[in-house]
Amino acid sequence: MDYKVSPVGFMRSCFKEKFAIPRQPQLAPAARGVLELVPPFDTGEAVAGLEQCSHVWLLFLFHQALEDKPRLKVRPPRLGGNASMGVFATRATHRPNGIGQSVVTLEKVEPGRLLLSGIDLLDGTPVLDIKPYVPYADSIAGASNGMASAPPAAIAVEWSDEALVQAHEHAQRLAEPLVALIEQCLAQDPRPAYQVPPPERVYGVKFWDVQVRWHYPEPERIRVLEVVADPV
Ligand code: SAM
Repeated sequence: MDYKVSPVGFMRSCFKEKFAIPRQPQLAPAARGVLELVPPFDTGEAVAGLEQCSHVWLLFLFHQALEDKPRLKVRPPRLGGNASMGVFATRATHRPNGIGQSVVTLEKVEPGRLLLSGIDLLDGTPVLDIKPYVPYADSIAGASNGMASAPPAAIAVEWSDEALVQAHEHAQRLAEPLVALIEQCLAQDPRPAYQVPPPERVYGVKFWDVQVRWHYPEPERIRVLEVVADPV
């Protein structure tokens, strides 16, 4: 039996590729985006009252991870990419129906759009539903998860003098907290757990409309090399 769902809106996110997006929301408070609602949800009526909430749940489609055949087991990157787990024991992106859920900070409600932060959604993500966060019901004191008991350990993020100047200039142009976004996301160490990159290997990712490039002078240190406008 199949059911049909339609997006209520689409995410305009700082994250232009899947790489370097934090594994969960709230790990990068500077990660901002705008959820553009589609008709008929864009008149203000459907979000009336939502401004009373500090956070909202987003249910969305991992639109860049959809697969025809559902996987029963996955290899979570957090476990080093080797351990195989049942897909329902993980928050993996490759999952039956490809549905993601994130609790994000509601910065502002406007007719037709929600300004959000602390997001972990890729640009263009179709959003299927929005629900107000209900602290007494959604926040469970003493709850546990044996596989993900704490956020990933953060690693030190350093800057070349040139990259820091560039980042501040682009932050001002974008009117976005770009320096904080870069530091918060790179501190999560986006490289696959099994990779021990040589210092000469340069990584890159696109945040907003800039390319951020970095390397690992030592395995547990990140140094941002440059932040340049993306030619595309
Ligand atoms: N908080 C959500 C959940 O628990 O369902 C997402 C968790 S999932 C591990 C987070 C990752 O999903 C991000 O690091 C990013 O790489 C990936 N992602 C985000 N939006 C996506 C999209 N539209 N399509 C495919 N992957 C996406």
